[in-house]
Amino acid sequence: DIAPYVGGESKVEGREKPIRLASNENPLGASPKAVEAYKALAAELNRYPDGGALALRQAIAKRYDLALDRLVCGAGSDELISLLVRAYAGPGDEVLYSRHGFLMYGISARTVGATPVTAPERNLTADLEALLAAVTERTRLVFLANPNNPTGSYLGYEAVRSFAERLPADVLLVIDAAYAEYVEASDYDDGLSLVERLSNVVVLRTFSKIHGLAALRLGWAYGPVEVIDVLNRVRGPFNVSAAALAAGVAAINDPTHVERSRAHNARIHAWFVRQLQRLNLRAEPSVGNFVLVRFGDAPGAAAFLKSQGVLVRAVGAYGLPDHLRITLGTDEEMQAVVDALERYRQ
Ligand code: PLP
Repeated sequence: DIAPYVGGESKVEGREKPIRLASNENPLGASPKAVEAYKALAAELNRYPDGGALALRQAIAKRYDLALDRLVCGAGSDELISLLVRAYAGPGDEVLYSRHGFLMYGISARTVGATPVTAPERNLTADLEALLAAVTERTRLVFLANPNNPTGSYLGYEAVRSFAERLPADVLLVIDAAYAEYVEASDYDDGLSLVERLSNVVVLRTFSKIHGLAALRLGWAYGPVEVIDVLNRVRGPFNVSAAALAAGVAAINDPTHVERSRAHNARIHAWFVRQLQRLNLRAEPSVGNFVLVRFGDAPGAAAFLKSQGVLVRAVGAYGLPDHLRITLGTDEEMQAVVDALERYRQ
């Protein structure tokens, strides 16, 4: 009786191009260099990909100053979440995360017969003391999305460091930093430096968000050599496609596109929050490329927006029945959302 993960909606009947703000995708698209690299792959579709993802791991290692043998790539960070749970948890074990944490943690736990356990949050933010208090001798993995989806909240470096140091050494802490590149807060850290210091920390990153390569399915994990070795044993031999590898290398080597995307997000975020205020709507604080907005009737608001061709994400499955998560799109898309919300308010 495992409820499947249901992704954000992408279709509206009768509309060829709905406004898709339900999956936290980069509205500016991928780096033109990544698109070129993807196209160039067409000439070699008969060839298997490099199962060791060497060129991509080298590019990532160089970009972030990381050790090559602590890196493994996956078909999206989703695959890496599943592999970690499959490798480290089973029946009778517990997988811990916070109340409004990313849904895949619990789904992955159930698929291996492990028990998902959630700890309460404070102000829509993971409560690290509550998480520590929920650790038992059965806990195998703790997932911490930082920033978190769907809340958009984050935890500062010192808090995460102290939490990681206080966790039992035999519990693996997985810091899921899917939205790291968007964060502007000076006390934020993606956790990569903790991997060097502690033997039980793994960091996950993705190409699906700021790099705009969600369609290709590409993510990476950085962790202790022993954990990476285990992931290399449980993953498929060619788990990442050649197209994803090629586009990924080009994307990592195009920091200009990342910066352009970050700057766009920051600007449109500030603008959208002001527009919401004008409409007497409240956006929760977010450091990601999406905002949670509270509605009196969230399902009704989602249905109205859909009728206007705007797809947003209902987050009842995350325990947030009164909110909708709205991805920050292009200027034109966000203007269309504001116009639709104005009609909704009337
Ligand atoms: N982790 C978090 C926190 C996410 O929000 C998402 C996607 O929405 C993922 C992981 C999975 O991303 P992907 O499998 O596309 O890398």
